[in-house]
Amino acid sequence: MSAFESFPLGQPGFVNNILDRAAHLRGNDERLMAMESDARSRAYVVHRDSLVVKKEGEGVRALLSIDEALKCGANPGTIFLGLRDGAAVFGMGISAAAAENLMTRNDVIVSDLRGMATQGLVPPGELSAIAMAKSMVNWHQRHGYCANCGQRTAMKEGGWKRDCPACKTEHFPRTDPVVIMLVTHGDKCLLGRAPRFLPGMYSCLAGFVEAAETIEDAVRREVFEEAGIRCTDVSYYMTQPWPYPSSLMIGCTARAANDDIVVDRAELEDARWFDRDEARLMITRKHPDGLAGPHPFAIAHHLLGRWVHGGAT
Ligand SMILES: [Zn+2]
Repeated sequence: MSAFESFPLGQPGFVNNILDRAAHLRGNDERLMAMESDARSRAYVVHRDSLVVKKEGEGVRALLSIDEALKCGANPGTIFLGLRDGAAVFGMGISAAAAENLMTRNDVIVSDLRGMATQGLVPPGELSAIAMAKSMVNWHQRHGYCANCGQRTAMKEGGWKRDCPACKTEHFPRTDPVVIMLVTHGDKCLLGRAPRFLPGMYSCLAGFVEAAETIEDAVRREVFEEAGIRCTDVSYYMTQPWPYPSSLMIGCTARAANDDIVVDRAELEDARWFDRDEARLMITRKHPDGLAGPHPFAIAHHLLGRWVHGGAT
């Protein structure tokens, strides 16, 4: 049975972190330095949306030794992600030139993380820790200067903070909340497709939570903006970290008060109601017209799958 057909649904990607974040060690510079040179320590090496993995037999290994990471061109100044079996795990980034250089090596692969994850090349249990590395490396690469005064900031607390030496402002890694919701109306659910989606694919509507907005209000606002549907009974279901670069997908359900869709063509190519039978064919990739639901890796599959199999809403 393929992942598209399996029920119970299991878990989406990037959840269930295997690491103990061991936040109490972040302020201990001496210990962090010792761990960086400890032979048991390991690192995930990322470059933009890609992960660097070492070929090993028929498979790959994502967790590299510090020495292997440095030989891949990883930048010193590591981010402490936490402990695994008592050993430190760090997140490390590489430059574009180093990534280019790795393409010529036959012992490592630099490849899109999402592709590797959906193909099962990387053990699912490691994806949450890799997501941590990816989001943190990205944040440091993009936030090297103080947003308050423009001075170069310095990494502190094992990478969990940047301090401005000039104005003393502290900067912390960001997480951007996104609501993603399955809206139902009787025995139909609302799905849309963005222009960037693969042909025939439909998924749950989604959008960023705005300043001073509740999750419930964000759900109601996004659904009305994108599809002209008013919602009631917003309920929380589950969350999924989404490291592109640092979102937290907040999965919700809601009931529609009307069913006359008005598609916002600036956001969506289409939005439609689908009944349960059609949605089932879409998530199992058996739809006669080739329509498809979201990948089991994504929280949207789990929102839709639960409803298709007779769950809430
Ligand atoms: Zn400053």
